[in-house]
Amino acid sequence: MTGKPAPSAEARDLRALLEAVRDAVTLDYGIPDYERRLVARTRLARTVLDAVAKEPADEIGWNADWLRGKLAAEQADAEKREKNRCGRCRRPFDPTDTRFDGHDRYGDTPWCRSCVDTCHEGSAEHICVICDPTRYSGGAR
Ligand SMILES: [Zn+2]
Ligand SMILES: [Zn+2]
Repeated sequence: MTGKPAPSAEARDLRALLEAVRDAVTLDYGIPDYERRLVARTRLARTVLDAVAKEPADEIGWNADWLRGKLAAEQADAEKREKNRCGRCRRPFDPTDTRFDGHDRYGDTPWCRSCVDTCHEGSAEHICVICDPTRYSGGAR
C-alpha cells in the first residue's frame, strides 16, 4: 500500500488555478450580459490554461493570480457598465440625449428618460419594472 502523496507547492498552485478557472466559467444565469460575460471569462481561462500547458510548473501560481486579477477587473467593468445604463431597456445612458424621451438618465433614477416616459404614458394595463418593481424583484440586479 502506498500512502498519500505528500502535498506539494505545485499541487497547491494547481488547486488555486483550478478554483480560479472554475470561478471564471461560473456566473449566475440571471445576470445581465450573461452570455457575453461568460464568453469573455472563458477566453481568459483558456489563455491561462494554454500558458500553464507550456510554462514550467512554478509559473502555475503566477497564472492563477493573473486570472484572479483579470476576473476582478472584468467584474468591476460589468458593475460599472450596469450603473451607467437603464435598468429597464439596458441601453447605456446618453447624457447628450436630453429629449423628454431621450436616453439620458431620468433624474437620479436607474431608468432612462425614454423608459420613464413610456411608463408615465402607459395605458391602464401597462406595468413595468419602473411602476411595479416588486413584480420584477429577483430578476434584474
Ligand atoms: Zn430605458
Ligand atoms: Zn411602468
